[in-house]
Amino acid sequence: MSFRKIMAALSVAFGVAFLVPTVTTAPASAAAPVAVRTIYYDASMSQEFKAAVDEGAAAWNKAVPIIELKPATAGQATIRITADDGWPRTYMQGFGRADIVMGRQAVQDGFYPPRIAAHELGHALGLPDNRNGRCDYLMSGHSSPTSCQVTAPHQTEADQVRRNAGGRLPAALAAKQAQYADCFVF
Ligand SMILES: [Zn+2]
Repeated sequence: MSFRKIMAALSVAFGVAFLVPTVTTAPASAAAPVAVRTIYYDASMSQEFKAAVDEGAAAWNKAVPIIELKPATAGQATIRITADDGWPRTYMQGFGRADIVMGRQAVQDGFYPPRIAAHELGHALGLPDNRNGRCDYLMSGHSSPTSCQVTAPHQTEADQVRRNAGGRLPAALAAKQAQYADCFVF
């Protein structure tokens, strides 16, 4: 352990402000490029929905350039996608961390699988359901018509994800746990 680390640990332990030399860093400029935040997902267990998941991920990557949803192996992924005969749903454990189930029930009702995938990935990126009935919003879920095949998020949704992905992620969202189980249930 370095001297600085020891001093820092002591100052935390005793609540004393030690004069620890710090490395000077250049102030972040507003124009500085934001680092891309890579979020790994594993769609290898999503059965017939793999291409739909990849399409949904690509739509998010295009709309929010500061994130990159990237296919990965199970060990590396923080978003895991499986499939079953129930309703599509997401168990979210914080920004970019989720278990998604692609449910065939919604497909049988006529919903477009890539849109379902994009919607569930929206939950994984910190968006709640929004039943405003509009096809140009991903998070409208079942309230949009089954004929809707839009996979791109609305600008409002993209902006929110950009904020969620930014450096100042609210602690509440970082630690947020939520279950979204009735996304496409009438
Ligand atoms: Zn939903």
